[in-house]
Amino acid sequence: NRYVDFFGGHGSLILGHGRAEVVTAVNAALTDGTQFGASHPLEVAWAKAIMRLVPSAERVRFTASGTEATLMAVRLARAFTGRAKLLRFMGHFHGWHDHMTSGYSDHFDGSPTPGVLTGVADQSVLVAPGDIAAVRAALSGGDVAAVILEPTGSSFGQVPLRPEFLHQLRQETEQHGALLIFDEVVTGFRVSPGGAQVAFDVRPDLSSFAKIVAGGMPGAAVAGRKEVLDWLDFEASRAAGHEKIGHPGTFNANPVSAAAGVAALTLIAEADVCGQANASAAALRAGLNEVLAEEAVPWAVYGTSSGFHVFTDPEGRGVAPHDFDPFAVGFAELKGGSKVLINKMRLAMLANGVDLNPRIGGLLSDTHTSADIDDTVAAFRASLRMMRAEGELPRR
Ligand code: PLP
Repeated sequence: NRYVDFFGGHGSLILGHGRAEVVTAVNAALTDGTQFGASHPLEVAWAKAIMRLVPSAERVRFTASGTEATLMAVRLARAFTGRAKLLRFMGHFHGWHDHMTSGYSDHFDGSPTPGVLTGVADQSVLVAPGDIAAVRAALSGGDVAAVILEPTGSSFGQVPLRPEFLHQLRQETEQHGALLIFDEVVTGFRVSPGGAQVAFDVRPDLSSFAKIVAGGMPGAAVAGRKEVLDWLDFEASRAAGHEKIGHPGTFNANPVSAAAGVAALTLIAEADVCGQANASAAALRAGLNEVLAEEAVPWAVYGTSSGFHVFTDPEGRGVAPHDFDPFAVGFAELKGGSKVLINKMRLAMLANGVDLNPRIGGLLSDTHTSADIDDTVAAFRASLRMMRAEGELPRR
C-alpha cells in the first residue's frame, strides 16, 4: 500500500523520509565510526547549528531522547533555583519520566501513575492551560523551580495557547524567581527555524529539543542560559563552589545523530523548510474544511503552523468548519471525542491512502506536494462518506 504520511515520524520528519542531504551525512558518519566513547567535532558542529537558529541557546547539552532532555531541564532548574516544585499544564506532554506522568492524559488531580512514587508526583503542580491566575497563585508560594510547557499548546496546538499567555508566563516566572522551560521537542525548528520562541518572541531560560533537532535520528538537547547550564560544567561548578550535575550517557551526542542533526538544521536555516510546510498545512486545513462544509459534517479542522487537528464536536455544540474558535472550547472537549468514531475515521483514511496520527490530525513536511494535499482532501471526502454509510455521521 502507498500512503500520504502525516504522522511524520512523530514530528521528526519535517524534511520528509530519506532526505538526500541527511542520508549522505548519516552514511559518512557511519563509515567514520558510530561511537568513540568521547566527544567529537560533530558534537560541536551540532551545538553551533542549534545556536545559529535559537538565540536563547547560550549553551547546549545533548541527550539521547526528548524525555531525557526534559528530565535534565528539570534537574538544572531545581539545582539552579534550590526549589523543588514543577509547574505543568494539564494535557501537556514532556516524555515519560517520573516527573511528567500525572496530568498528561489522566491523573489530572496530580496523583501518581503506576510505578511513580507519591513523593515525586507531589512535586508537580498541575494547572489548566491558559489560566494565568492559577499560575500566579502557584508561583506566589516561592517554591516553584520551573514552569514547563508545550509553547503552542498541548499536542502541537490541539489545545492552543495564545501568544500573550507565553509573554505573561515570561513576566510571572521572572518576577517570582522561577525558570521558564519551553519544551520545543515538537515545535523546535518547525513553527519557525528558531522554534516557537522566535515565532512568538519569548526568551525562555531553558528549552528542550528532540525530533527535528536530530534530523530523524535518535537524539535531543537541552539548551539555554549559560549560568544555568554551567551546573553541568566542571570548571564553572568548581569556581562557583558547588558540586556539578553529572550527565553520563553512552549515546549522548552520538556522531550519527549529530551528522543528521547538522544536515537537517543547515537545510532549515538555509531553505524555507518551515515556511513551505506551514503553507502546505494552511492549504490542507482550508481544503479539509471545504469538504466538511460541502458534505454537511458538523466538525472543524484547525491548527497553526504545519499542523492540523480534526475537532469532532463531541458535545454537539454545532460548529462552523471555516469559523471554528478552539479557544472557546475547553481542553477536555478538544482532546475528547468518541474513541470509536476517531479510530474508525483513522482507519477510513488509511483505507483511502492517508496515514494520520491517532488523534486524526497530523504534521506536514516541506516535501508534501499540492498533489498530496489534493489526494488527502479527496481521501477525507471518501472517508466521511464511508463514515456516513456506517451510521457514524448524521444523515444529510
Ligand atoms: N516533549 C514533547 C512535547 C513531545 O512531544 C515528546 C515526544 O513526543 C517528548 C517530550 C518526549 O520525547 P522523546 O519521545 O524523544 O522521549
